[in-house]
Amino acid sequence: MPRDRHLAPVIEHPSPNHDARPAGAAVDMLVLHYTGMTGAAAALARLRDPATKVGAHYLVDEDGAILRLVAEERRAWHAGVACWRGRDDVNAVSIGVEIVNPGHEFGYRPFPEAQIAAVEGLCRDILARHPIPARSVVGHADVAPARKADPGELFPWKRLARAGIGLWPDSTAVRGEMGLSLRAGDHGAPVAEIQRALAEFGYAVPTTGVFDAATTAVVIAFQRHFRPARIDGVVDPETAHIVFRLLALA
Ligand SMILES: [Zn+2]
Repeated sequence: MPRDRHLAPVIEHPSPNHDARPAGAAVDMLVLHYTGMTGAAAALARLRDPATKVGAHYLVDEDGAILRLVAEERRAWHAGVACWRGRDDVNAVSIGVEIVNPGHEFGYRPFPEAQIAAVEGLCRDILARHPIPARSVVGHADVAPARKADPGELFPWKRLARAGIGLWPDSTAVRGEMGLSLRAGDHGAPVAEIQRALAEFGYAVPTTGVFDAATTAVVIAFQRHFRPARIDGVVDPETAHIVFRLLALA
């Protein structure tokens, strides 16, 4: 059985927006994006324009076409200022995949089936080539929560996790702490506890015990990824439960 039986043919569209990975930097992250532009052609032009200094390893169009812009052994410039699990050189250690979608700014819409099937095949192929832990398959918003929302709450993370791509909580049942509700402006030990858990999972959030704007941004990014039914930046019982379930699974 061919290893890449799910993978559509990859079309070469080289981009100049990459450089060498630093010595000793091994790929251990996969970062998924949406393009956030009106169409695939505009996104491709931007990702191949040397003036923009933004690139990615792959672009997946809505019809499922997979374009390779940058070779995996090179550092593509996709994440910008970002941090995950204490590392702020995300581009150095990651593969970046851009998924065509207008995004929240230009008419966010569901990702078509053909596109998701292609993303699934591509990600499985990438994961077969690199030792990437499940918790390090992330969205751009996870690694840059104050700046980014992609690929957003319509992205089918649960489906991908069932295909072996990324982590998903095996239970969303909530035990105890029914009254829990932490939000912007709160402070104290419970806030510190959730900050510590989010940071331990990978998010860049300091354990200050103060539910500040940065913490709200992290909670929103977390909800876009792991609890898309309600994205409000409030740590309710279900959000807290999912944080701790994921930590137990990671
Ligand atoms: Zn992005």
